[in-house]
Amino acid sequence: MAHSGNVVISGDGYDVIDCKTCGFKHVTPLPDKQENENLYRDSHYDDGERDRLNYYERDRDWWLMSYRDVLGEIAQFVSPSDNNTLVDIGCGAGLFLEAAQGEGWNSVGVEISTIAAKHCRDKGLSIVNSSFDADLDDLPKNIEVVHMRNILEHVPDPFSLIKVAYDKLASGGILVVGVPNDFNPLQEGLRKTQDYKPWWVSVPHHLNYFDFDSLEALVEKCGFKPVSRFSSFPLDLFLTMGVNYIETPSVGRECHLKRVNFEWFMENAGLSNLRQDIYRAFSNLNLGREAIVIARKP
Ligand SMILES: [Zn+2]
Repeated sequence: MAHSGNVVISGDGYDVIDCKTCGFKHVTPLPDKQENENLYRDSHYDDGERDRLNYYERDRDWWLMSYRDVLGEIAQFVSPSDNNTLVDIGCGAGLFLEAAQGEGWNSVGVEISTIAAKHCRDKGLSIVNSSFDADLDDLPKNIEVVHMRNILEHVPDPFSLIKVAYDKLASGGILVVGVPNDFNPLQEGLRKTQDYKPWWVSVPHHLNYFDFDSLEALVEKCGFKPVSRFSSFPLDLFLTMGVNYIETPSVGRECHLKRVNFEWFMENAGLSNLRQDIYRAFSNLNLGREAIVIARKP
């Protein structure tokens, strides 16, 4: 069916529509799949402007802690063991795989970028260097968890990726899918009252714009049953407090480090469960930087 819906943002050579066919907001026209894959295969992790591997590695211990929170959510539904595999689709710098191994998962990453795949292999991680909706025949059987974060917003056909996860997962297996939580109430409030432009619209990198409800609807359309929601620190809060990190990367880094401090404080004070409860509560208010949906294959 053709894409159609109200235009919510008009940019230079594109519109973002609230697509009735897809059930989420996305760019139109959408790029060709092959052209889009080329963007990520060769240059995404070292594009001359931003060293995305270092972006993760420099805050390595914090990322590992943050990923353990999500692994704790997963462990409510399926227990790690040597016989059960967790697959991270779009594993990037490999830190989620490392955190998963630390929690007892046999873990495998799928990564389209040759630079990122090599980075992971150099750390001894098991990687399939492939596009995400290829046959993926090299993956082990008994896949109990598929984790996919910050991927769906980048691809022209998110349905095909969720279907790959469905096909690969064992019955009763768990899908964890996370995307930026866009057009959220704080962002919309800032646009309305303080003349912010929609800074989260980032074409051609971000093609799709989800919130918790539209992400849940997408996985349900592909046969999954949503079982839980999770989130991350609502960085937009800094903007509401008058700290504008949009224009100045160094201010962005400062805000990031403040939330890092907050999360380490909770960890060191023995309040990691409370930290997780806070982020779960944010997700139920449609707040948080990320919308993370956990769903089960029946
Ligand atoms: Zn559509």
